[in-house]
Amino acid sequence: MTSHLLPTYARADVAFERGEGAWLFSTTGERYLDCSGGVAVNVLGHAHPHLLEALTTQAHKVWHVSNLYRVPEAERLADRLCSISFADLVFFCNSGAEAMECCIKVARKHHAASGHPERFRIITFEGAFHGRTLATLAAGGNKKYLDGFGPVAGGFDHIPFGDVEVVKRAITPETAAILIEPIQGEGGVRVVPNSFLQSLRALCDQHGLLLIFDEVQTGVGRTGHFFAYERTGVKPDILGLAKGLGGGFPVGACLATADAGKGMVAGTHGSTFGGNPMAMAIGNAVLDVLLAPGFLEGVRKKALLFKQRLAEIHDRHSDVISEVRGDGLLLGLRTTIPNTELVDALRAEHLLAVAAGDNVVRLLPALIISDSEIGEVINRIDRAATNIERALAAKREASGATV
Ligand SMILES: *Cc1c(COP(=O)(O)O)cnc(C)c1O
Repeated sequence: MTSHLLPTYARADVAFERGEGAWLFSTTGERYLDCSGGVAVNVLGHAHPHLLEALTTQAHKVWHVSNLYRVPEAERLADRLCSISFADLVFFCNSGAEAMECCIKVARKHHAASGHPERFRIITFEGAFHGRTLATLAAGGNKKYLDGFGPVAGGFDHIPFGDVEVVKRAITPETAAILIEPIQGEGGVRVVPNSFLQSLRALCDQHGLLLIFDEVQTGVGRTGHFFAYERTGVKPDILGLAKGLGGGFPVGACLATADAGKGMVAGTHGSTFGGNPMAMAIGNAVLDVLLAPGFLEGVRKKALLFKQRLAEIHDRHSDVISEVRGDGLLLGLRTTIPNTELVDALRAEHLLAVAAGDNVVRLLPALIISDSEIGEVINRIDRAATNIERALAAKREASGATV
């Protein structure tokens, strides 16, 4: 069947009609264990009763009113996000890229409002991903994604990841901020060492720069903490959230301290849909579950079990799985075969996973995955890896290799 969808995605030939917890059911009646989580979005799995309740209750009240009026659900969600974080101010939008656009604007405007409009440049890191709008693509600096789209938005300085001396050299009188993901998600589940984040914080304080964390993927409980920065001891001045925040409903947010956000007065930014009552009711419902006593502690326990079991898989199949990476339930398997082939082999075992950079396959299960479902994930990876080993052995035999 031909499709009228713009063919920007190489889609797998499977469609899902229903989901329940950690499982998805295809239109052909097959059951898949979901470790793609809609790319780190479905933090509470599929059809979570509390989210369903919040969505249907709000749908009967009011969906959208615009930001010309007060939105009590948005005020409540902003209040809750600030009470659990470094932030004093929140702007709501609809996606990760929009959240990061807002972070960039907040940082630049801060310096302009401080009498330094010349300070607009932002230091970013190789392997980063901040979204697909023209500015966030420029921030990420991935040549493959920028090619053919005209002049690259200015004001970003890309440097290699992890070297403090290089960061020091990149700071100029025009630098406004440093932008980094505490764990690079799309870049291949590369965990940034705490010591590096601490150095960035110190450099920002020393030079009057703002530290921006892109927690679009790592935020909302993914690492077993509401924000990944909580496990590092380093606080940012500005932070972007999205993916998990609506549990599958499109919501993004830019969080900032009062000082970082001081330039963002009436009229400086906006969004028609951002922070509408539907999205905010669902965002609040996600927080109800994640902030309930013991929930995140349970995620950390599950993550430990998951990582231990993946270490066993690594031991057993080190010819296919060369490394286990990640933190919390943002896990990566580096593979010796093309990562898309491993994703396909896992899907053949009815396990959904996501390819990432650096030849990594990401596992992004619902935070509510059970211990027995984790065991089932491991069984399926084990079977897929065994199949790959058999195929590789058969290929070696067919080509007459002797070693
Ligand atoms: C997914 C992602 C984005 C972009 O989010 P969209 O909702 O696709 O615009 C930005 N930053 C990071 C770290 C992401 O993982």
